[in-house]
Amino acid sequence: GVSLKDLRKSYGSNEVLKGISLDVAPGEVVCLIGPSGSGKSTLLRCVNLLEKPNEGTIHVGGFEATDLDVDIDKMRRKVGMVFQQFNLFPHLDALRNCTVAQTKVLRRSQAEADKVARHNLERVGLGHLADRFPDQLSGGQQQRVAIARALSMNPELMLFDEPTSALDPETVGDVLAVMRNLAKEGMTMLVVTHEMGFAREVADRVVFMDGGVVVEEGVAEQVISAPTQPRTKEFLRRVL
Ligand code: ATP
Ligand code: MG
Repeated sequence: GVSLKDLRKSYGSNEVLKGISLDVAPGEVVCLIGPSGSGKSTLLRCVNLLEKPNEGTIHVGGFEATDLDVDIDKMRRKVGMVFQQFNLFPHLDALRNCTVAQTKVLRRSQAEADKVARHNLERVGLGHLADRFPDQLSGGQQQRVAIARALSMNPELMLFDEPTSALDPETVGDVLAVMRNLAKEGMTMLVVTHEMGFAREVADRVVFMDGGVVVEEGVAEQVISAPTQPRTKEFLRRVL
């Protein structure tokens, strides 16, 4: 799981995270929602230290990420991240996209890495397209390769930052279905999304952020259907 305590992050004089505390228990799925600029991506990027928080603590996968002596590379292996832009290697086919980090970072043999990659491509429904290059795949298929690539590192936690918002509407469902299955299999997930249907159905909890603070959080159905805070109500009125 992951545990954030009083996390603060500023860019110059702009304080973007103003003391965020948030826990995701092992096997739990938490959806993070909130308006543009509220700090959702910054929060996710802090979890695997793509951004360095100014204050607060982060525990993830048995590591204290904010400990100055933490082995950042080791810690990052516990955390899979999937972005809006899939960032696949254009010159590598789907299979190789899923094996590079395994062989380079985890030092797995090519044969072992291939086996793991094929398993995960099957998991996202793309076993039959393993030899396709990114430009031969739809956006949704590319995003599913990106998910398979992250899974191939055997992460304890998956972070998703608006994984479907750059996709054509007809491919969104396939990506959400893969995420739904992952959740069912017990993967720990922190998901930034505007897909309220997904959040309501799949998330155990929903956290609403605005202006760098957690405004409201609770059981998904409750936060989405019966929010108590005016800012949450206003936000949901606009996105639902
Ligand atoms: P969106 O829904 O649009 O993705 P968000 O909730 O993910 O928004 P963030 O990307 O975390 O928001 O940005 C929060 C604030 O931090 C914004 O005001 C943004 O301009 C600022 N910010 C983010 N990254 C940087 C950076 N690298 N340097 C300076 N300011 C930044
Ligand atoms: Mg963002």
